[in-house]
Amino acid sequence: MTEGQVIVGLEVHCQLDTRSKLFCGCSTDYRSDGPNTHVCPVCLGLPGAMPVLNKRSIEYALRVAKALNCSVLPESEFSRKNYFYPDLDKAYQITQYDKPLAEGGYLEIEGDEGGEKRIRITRIHVEEDPGRLVHRGSAERGKYSLVDYNRAGIPLIEIVSEPDMRSPKEARKFLNKLRATLEYLSVFDSEKEGSLRVDANISIKGSERVEVKNISSYKGVEKALLFEITRQKSLLRRGQKVDRETRHYLEARGVTQSSRSKEQEHDYRYFPEPDLRPLHVQSWVEGIVLPELPDARRERFIAQYRCSLNHARTLTGELRVANFFEKVVLADPVGLSTLAATWIADTLIGELNYRNMSIDGVDAPGFMELLTLIRQGTITDKSGIEVLRVMLDQRLNKQPCETPAAIVDRLNLAKTSGDPGALTVAIEEVITQHPKALEDYRNGKSGAINFLVGQVMKKTRGCADPGELNRLLTEALKQREAG
Ligand SMILES: [Zn+2]
Repeated sequence: MTEGQVIVGLEVHCQLDTRSKLFCGCSTDYRSDGPNTHVCPVCLGLPGAMPVLNKRSIEYALRVAKALNCSVLPESEFSRKNYFYPDLDKAYQITQYDKPLAEGGYLEIEGDEGGEKRIRITRIHVEEDPGRLVHRGSAERGKYSLVDYNRAGIPLIEIVSEPDMRSPKEARKFLNKLRATLEYLSVFDSEKEGSLRVDANISIKGSERVEVKNISSYKGVEKALLFEITRQKSLLRRGQKVDRETRHYLEARGVTQSSRSKEQEHDYRYFPEPDLRPLHVQSWVEGIVLPELPDARRERFIAQYRCSLNHARTLTGELRVANFFEKVVLADPVGLSTLAATWIADTLIGELNYRNMSIDGVDAPGFMELLTLIRQGTITDKSGIEVLRVMLDQRLNKQPCETPAAIVDRLNLAKTSGDPGALTVAIEEVITQHPKALEDYRNGKSGAINFLVGQVMKKTRGCADPGELNRLLTEALKQREAG
């Protein structure tokens, strides 16, 4: 390791996508319901209520352990982590402490230095989610806060990595790969709000380690790490030292802030949960058959659909995107696969991100029709993007959705090469309107022809076939020169 080396380890909390909570029968489908509607004596922590372990959540956690190459312990145990906070109704959280479910695995990512890099997994344990505080006004200045226990008792797994990441980018790649893996395992839904939260440990080699807690978005992790690296490096540059402390990430401002509470491990007074028996689930692992995971699917896309490595990476990086791609190409695998890979990876994903839209909102038959129009040469690539934007906006704004062909008709986007007369007219007009460019062309200035091409494109609103346009324009110019 070199001087100034950045060292990052992550603790990732993911909600397991079970139907009921970890220790009671309450439904986990709480997001569209009112506060405190998915609660019972167990998840409210009322006296005398006894937890009953949800078997499915352990099966889900074991799937993750197997996919991350971890060893499941012969015996694991639930413990009580005692602390007082209004979102924690029992005043303790049931979690796993010194006997976690699984230990010692790894996940491969594309490292900064190229090639695959192994990020070691320290441990995976199962725990319950606390409730949620809703602040009226800001957390600092609001008059009061409300507490919603719908989230209390949702099963979580915490995945702890070794400090093997060397940059915020590697941390982002690790998280993306982890998210994809969990989704491929059908145990996690990344589109559910608050389903993933991250604590990041970060240090500069030779200095103290800082923990940044509760980063609740994928983008937030990279930003929080970038902020921390700059902050720590500038302290060191000025000869000051980095304090070992816990900080919070303030998403809206993109900064980290020192936390007032300084809980230490021993403050939690962990002890074994007396109402739950130890788990002996090592033998369940053999019975788990893993589905195709992101790396395998990436290799298959390269072999089966001749995707480039970069396209295959992008397409398989999210389960929904991979499924959408296959839905589109399986209808017409030979003709569409390259075009579909290019359009989904290079255009569609960007347009969706821009609109904060899920690919589930895209109509696959409509998208196929759009690709067919492009492949048949009915519209140019540029018009294709315009049609796609209209399609997505109509979906997003819940307007009636037109077919791509109808959009092409309405906006008059069909290639003018179908009507060479119109293109010729446009070229003639442009040459007449720009005598200076014509003169430049006659004087051999190479920029002139590009300028004229641009003007014709503008006039035809991008509908001209570029090859056809170049041919006709050169012809027209030669005629003028001759004349
Ligand atoms: Zn309950």
